[in-house]
Amino acid sequence: MKTMEEVLQDWEAVIGLEVHCELTKLETKMFCGCKLEFGAEPNTHTCPVCLGLPGALPVPNRAAIQSIVLAGLATNCDIEKHTMFYRKGYMYPDMAKNFQTTQGPKAFCMRGHLDLSVDGRGAQERLFWSDLAEGEQSENMTRTADGYVAHVGITRIHMEEDAGKMVHIGGGEGRIAGATHSLVDYNRAGTPLIELVTEPDLRTPEEARLFMQKLRQIFLTLGISDCSMEEGSLRADGNVSLRRRGAKEFGTKTELKNINSFKNLHDGLAYEICRQAEVLEEGGQIYQETRHWDPSKKRTIVMRVKETADDYRMFPDPDLAPYDLTDEFIESVRAKLPELPDERAARYERDFGLTPYDARHLVEHRFTVEFFEAACAAAGDRARELAKPLANLALNDITAYVNAGEGIDFASTPFTPERGVALVSLLAEDAISSKQAKEVFAAVLDEDKDPAAIVEERGMKQVSDTGAIEAVIDEVLAANPDKVEQYKGGKTGLIGFFVGQCMKAMKGQGNPKLINELLASKLNV
Ligand code: ADP
Ligand code: MG
Ligand code: ZN
Repeated sequence: MKTMEEVLQDWEAVIGLEVHCELTKLETKMFCGCKLEFGAEPNTHTCPVCLGLPGALPVPNRAAIQSIVLAGLATNCDIEKHTMFYRKGYMYPDMAKNFQTTQGPKAFCMRGHLDLSVDGRGAQERLFWSDLAEGEQSENMTRTADGYVAHVGITRIHMEEDAGKMVHIGGGEGRIAGATHSLVDYNRAGTPLIELVTEPDLRTPEEARLFMQKLRQIFLTLGISDCSMEEGSLRADGNVSLRRRGAKEFGTKTELKNINSFKNLHDGLAYEICRQAEVLEEGGQIYQETRHWDPSKKRTIVMRVKETADDYRMFPDPDLAPYDLTDEFIESVRAKLPELPDERAARYERDFGLTPYDARHLVEHRFTVEFFEAACAAAGDRARELAKPLANLALNDITAYVNAGEGIDFASTPFTPERGVALVSLLAEDAISSKQAKEVFAAVLDEDKDPAAIVEERGMKQVSDTGAIEAVIDEVLAANPDKVEQYKGGKTGLIGFFVGQCMKAMKGQGNPKLINELLASKLNV
């Protein structure tokens, strides 16, 4: 198979996502008073409504409607005031009602959008953006200083309910194949779920991954879900098709179901792009089908051929009255909107003078936001002055540390925000070099001591005493008269040699900036 890079020279990928998010922060289910609890004893949170017993009547959960309206406002959707619930035919033992309650053509939230900033290595997956001038637009993307912004349309966000869970006994790895019997747990049946559907506006697996990540950050900020991809409270279906570069018509899409990590979303789509290109280039045909991405085998396999909308026999639910959301209700929800990641990034630029790049990467993760905010608070009057090195610390050292130890909660490590401020202050005062700062960072985590104590104990103080440095420089120059001659004759690359000799003489503790400056002034007279 060709690599994705090769494929994308000739083909353009078209990607749309369907993202399901369980509203785990709610107390009760969508249409009954049963408690929402992950991991409870099977079938302990059930009632006639979520078991679909005849005659039981559903009552919508007001808090769930508030959550979906919040999600819609945060993603620039129009809130649809007149909408209703539909029944979607569904015949499987994990849903005792034999239908799923969902929404029809008009969902609570319609016609939204999000802007995605793509930069660095991830931007390389999209071709041709670098031909544009900064600020220039082509299709749905605008060139920025260090990449591009992709404008991604959101078709709708609708409300629905989750099914229960089947456990198959006796087969391999819990699968139904070979099982002797199956158990069903209805605790999850009726869990409020929102589904967000994007327009087919994404063009690379990286954009799909970033979209998911941005959406997760927004939902977490809204506090509507714990958005755990491992536990399945946030999952995505990735739809992808190919068309020849320059073509307008979309190709036939396939759908990757129930993707449960950012990496799987990226890698599954990348594989599917390569697979489709191979089929098409050999003169074959893509069938509209649902496929499963197997990360261990690194391939996708067919799950089922697509059913059409008619198969679902959707019709308005006669047990649930149509909705008439009032302006007061919508405004009361709007008043609850917290500061969203994009607004937070804008504030970091404005209040702390951060670059757009630093600001937007800081808000991508909760741990970097938490650290940066707490450290700026701890820095007090010096927050603006220290913001840049604090952002660097969060984006480089802290991010590397957190990524190395999976799932680590940085806030509970000995590296407190106060210690972060102390560390960047030492750096700002030239008391230690940036190389030494990395050592101190690791030592704080290891030994649970203040940066100043570590610097003291290890005798790391960077020498910034001009007199002391000059004395060393004089010695080094006196010991290497031939090299000094060569330097003055034009071999200016020797500056590195002189700096190295000075550093060696000072056991690595000389301030490299000062050494460079003083050396230059002594050599250039
Ligand atoms: P379906 O009826 O198969 O569910 P939808 O029209 O509801 O299809 O779209 C589902 C998702 O697939 C949406 O995110 C949409 O943007 C995306 N999509 C639709 N057509 C294509 C296509 N040709 N290629 C890639 N994605 C597509
Ligand atoms: Mg669909
Ligand atoms: Zn119930």
